Amino acid sequence: MSNKPTFVVEEYLLLLYKLRDSHGHIKAVDLAQRLNIRPPTVHATLQRMQRDSMVQIGDKKTIRLTEEGENLASNIAFRHNLAEYFLCHTLGISWSEVHKHAHKLEHAMTPTVVEKLAAFLNYPEACPHGTPNPGYSLPDDCFTLDKAKGEMMLEIIMISEELEDSEELLKILQDQKLMPGQKHQLIARSDGMKSITLQQQEQPAAYPFMLPLHVAEKIHVIQSKD
Ligand SMILES: [Zn+2]
Ligand SMILES: [Zn+2]
Repeated sequence: MSNKPTFVVEEYLLLLYKLRDSHGHIKAVDLAQRLNIRPPTVHATLQRMQRDSMVQIGDKKTIRLTEEGENLASNIAFRHNLAEYFLCHTLGISWSEVHKHAHKLEHAMTPTVVEKLAAFLNYPEACPHGTPNPGYSLPDDCFTLDKAKGEMMLEIIMISEELEDSEELLKILQDQKLMPGQKHQLIARSDGMKSITLQQQEQPAAYPFMLPLHVAEKIHVIQSKD
């Protein structure tokens, strides 16, 4: 396998790479659902990827990235994160919007561009939403926001990539300053309403904000010391 993967194959690789951490066993139907593509088409693409040694399809139809596939995918993830960082911090495009633009750019970046861009941006460790670049990981004491208890002061570390697909949701998170580096105090938790309520540390006058637990599950935080 020496040719550069096609746009479509790169999309599959990136999705498999992202799902492998959060969802144990990935099958073709999961990909079909995520990509909004008919299962027979997904199946055919996966067969080609298996032929090209990027994935291995196991007995129970679970799909696993091979070492080759993993290398290709982490490279795409790096390009995606760099593109987002550049769009957000250099070009000033909105935090809630950069993901969709980066999705287009990531496929077009040559190795030279990636190298120069990484140096230009001073080698960021994560995307603007906190997803660590390959080779970096989340802090050990990180947990998901739905697990927060009491009146903890929390610092946002990462908004999962899954949430990035909804620009509308990201806009709400941005308005509420639910972004990496921002601090919020947990003020209430309701299992009945399946929600938690947070208060921004920087703007105590702002109204408390109620967040559904299914969104909180995808936001990673640490307990803040101050
Ligand atoms: Zn993204
Ligand atoms: Zn991101």
